[in-house]
Amino acid sequence: MNVERFCIKPGSRLDWKDHDPDATPGCKSKAAAAKPLLANLERLLELQEQLFAQSERALLIVLQGMDTSGKDGVIEHVMGAFNPQGVKITSFKVPTPEELTHDFLWRVHKATPGRGMVGIFNRSHYEDVLVVRVAGLAPKAVWSTRYAHINAFEKLLADSGVAIVKIFLHISPEEQAERLTARRDTPEKQWKFSPGDLKVRTQWSAYMKAYQDALERCSTGWAPWYVVPSNKKWYRNLAISEILVDTMSRLGLAYPPPVEGIASYEIPPAG
Ligand code: AMP
Ligand code: MG
Repeated sequence: MNVERFCIKPGSRLDWKDHDPDATPGCKSKAAAAKPLLANLERLLELQEQLFAQSERALLIVLQGMDTSGKDGVIEHVMGAFNPQGVKITSFKVPTPEELTHDFLWRVHKATPGRGMVGIFNRSHYEDVLVVRVAGLAPKAVWSTRYAHINAFEKLLADSGVAIVKIFLHISPEEQAERLTARRDTPEKQWKFSPGDLKVRTQWSAYMKAYQDALERCSTGWAPWYVVPSNKKWYRNLAISEILVDTMSRLGLAYPPPVEGIASYEIPPAG
């Protein structure tokens, strides 16, 4: 699968008409996706082990998408392949009163992965140019300065060894309606049903405009944005596993060299 097709080229325009959330380029069916997905998940675990052993680089995965787009599902079904010891997941909620007394990146910077670690953001600093903009939680004079701050912040991370990959899970409003209905009507899913999501749904086009601006302004050479068709969960998982394998295999990962003369060490009897 060619993952470049999902990448928003730095400086290019994003037209949602070019992105079909139902598309499944490079794979026709769920059955056909099973084998390559499994191979990618195994490869991700190997790459993560090298990342951890080498402890020079870090990986930051940013997940964004409308409610029900599958952020939790991807963490379970794709990132679940990683060894949990080397993973730090952060879900960004409505900022606390303390967080609100600081700049918007304060809570985010603290959550970034250290060397050897994989960091996963379930929502992120992008909420500060998405919900904040659409719900009017801050004036334009405030949120409009944030794109430049985000790019500079991500450049700092990249210059410090953090590889960044940002993924937008693209679903259609029709698909969301089905998923919200399932959440409302299925007892095991009802705990996820949040009436606040319905209000956000009524602002769909305002969110798409906010996402368009964020992805156009903040897809950079050091922290690219990918738009992944996500109406079909099996395709979403496969495509994201491909993007992660592609990103991690370009990090120059390898096991560190062993201690000198390793073969000459005798394992002594236990005392
Ligand atoms: P969930 O992802 O369902 O757990 O919901 C988290 C909620 O927190 C969403 O409604 C987000 O829009 C909201 N949220 C996350 N970050 C921010 C932020 N910086 N400002 C305001 N709301 C936020
Ligand atoms: Mg929610």
